[in-house]
Amino acid sequence: MPRSYLNEARRRVAPKRERIGPIIDRLAAAHADAAIALRFGSPLELLVSVMLSAQTTDVNVNRVTQTLFEKYRRPEDYLSVPQEELERDIFPTGFYRQKAKALRGTMRTLIEEFDGEVPHRIDELTRLPGVGRKTANVVAAELGEPQGIVVDTHVRRLSQRLGLTRQEDPEKIERDLVRLVPRADWGRFPHLLIWHGRRVCDARWPRCEDCVVSDLCPSSRV
Ligand code: SF4
Repeated sequence: MPRSYLNEARRRVAPKRERIGPIIDRLAAAHADAAIALRFGSPLELLVSVMLSAQTTDVNVNRVTQTLFEKYRRPEDYLSVPQEELERDIFPTGFYRQKAKALRGTMRTLIEEFDGEVPHRIDELTRLPGVGRKTANVVAAELGEPQGIVVDTHVRRLSQRLGLTRQEDPEKIERDLVRLVPRADWGRFPHLLIWHGRRVCDARWPRCEDCVVSDLCPSSRV
């Protein structure tokens, strides 16, 4: 959408501070099942799943972790096999060499610095090799302690379309969102945008006519 048109449309809807509450409420009602799609049974499995999910689908990760988590139960297990064996075990998730290296580095750091436990704080999570801010944000949120807002491709696109940010860079978008979204909603907010993005606000063909927030959206085509 041309920027001039978007600016004009932004003037037609209420300021974002007035819209954010209804946007969250309506998306929550429309996507009551919005939650992380990765399957895990412990903080360690969560961390591994999120690390494996880079550049692949959650379905693919779940398929791999179904058997992976039977073999690798503790951080030590990832270090007790040759790296090539771990690479083979995670091969279908792609980028298996980098991922295996990151997993082993992370497990070593967990053992040496965190008594083998997954930390909950973002500044500690990002000390783990191969764990960036996005992965740390996802893990912290799923552990019940969100300290930021996860910005993936759907969150980026929808935040921009909904006029909640004018930024392009994920870290700057996150900064705008944490100022706007009530802290109690930091955990579920990305899931709501992700599911709305998948089901309704498609990247190429947004279905504005079926969208529950079309009257609150400056990019609406209806
Ligand atoms: S009105 Fe259209 S562009 Fe706006 S959020 Fe809904 S589907 Fe996306």
